[in-house]
Amino acid sequence: KTDSIHDGFSFYSEEMESRFISRRQRYMQLKSAIVDNNVIALYQPIVDAITGQLNAVEALMRIKENDGSLISPIEFIALAEETRLIIPLGEKMIQLAFQQLKKWCDEGLKIRMCLNISPIQFIDPHFVPFLLKAIDKYHVSPKMIELELTESLMLDNLQQVIRDMEQLRIMGISISIDDFGTGFSCLSYLKELPVDVLKIDKSFVAQLSVEKPDEILVKTITTLAQSMNLKSVAEGVESLDQARRLKELGVSYLQGYYFSRPVTANEVRDSYDI
Ligand code: C2E
Ligand code: CA
Ligand code: CA
Ligand code: CA
Repeated sequence: KTDSIHDGFSFYSEEMESRFISRRQRYMQLKSAIVDNNVIALYQPIVDAITGQLNAVEALMRIKENDGSLISPIEFIALAEETRLIIPLGEKMIQLAFQQLKKWCDEGLKIRMCLNISPIQFIDPHFVPFLLKAIDKYHVSPKMIELELTESLMLDNLQQVIRDMEQLRIMGISISIDDFGTGFSCLSYLKELPVDVLKIDKSFVAQLSVEKPDEILVKTITTLAQSMNLKSVAEGVESLDQARRLKELGVSYLQGYYFSRPVTANEVRDSYDI
């Protein structure tokens, strides 16, 4: 049945049908992953640009297939958002990450935990109560938690979003703006947003040494962060040259394959030997 997609001469409705089935299969797979414990959290280190020390990890979601292989979020986040399955999936990630955070804390490891929160999940009225309950249940310190939100969240319900952010920040939770610079400009209301960190998207980092405009962009975002008393994180750092340049530009924290790919919790500890 996959042939109809690939031969290029497929009957239109047939192609539609197979795509529909595959979306449906993906949906069923996501749904059963939640109950069968096939939602997996990998962790990618974020290091201090100056000291090189591990500062935090970003939890990144994977779905484990029957054969043990891991499915990337690129394959399912959009569908999960459309179907709102991102809410139970995101809740699962919060539980996994908090459990791990508690474990590290008990072992004496000071590693902050960054979590990606979909706008759909953040806007849901159950989100803040769920988060507070989970903090209580897993005995984690809010000071060790950072939520990564995207600019698209600010397009709607801005006042409610700001109120929720403020409530979380009063408890000690940090807020970062993910993929900063890729969405609609957040600049006009950035000054009103209760945020702590700007995350510079990897698309700007990738072209750093090749294209001048991207270097100017990174410099501008970093300067903006500094002048507003915010930290900055560059993601997608793949080479020593990029790491050096980002440090020179004043970026606070670095994250990318150059330091580590997303790995299991045990691998985080082993590679940093903390
Ligand atoms: P993101 O939040 O921008 O995360 C960064 C992505 O870049 C991750 O992809 C990471 O594995 C990848 N990456 C890290 N270092 C490098 C590098 O040096 N070079 C390159 N080329 N890529 C690098 P991943 O894990 O596939 O996640 C993709 C996106 O899926 C994330 O983008 C995020 O938007 C979303 N996502 C992941 N986990 C979650 C989650 O738990 N909840 C929600 N709502 N979204 C998630
Ligand atoms: Ca992120
Ligand atoms: Ca990004
Ligand atoms: Ca993202």
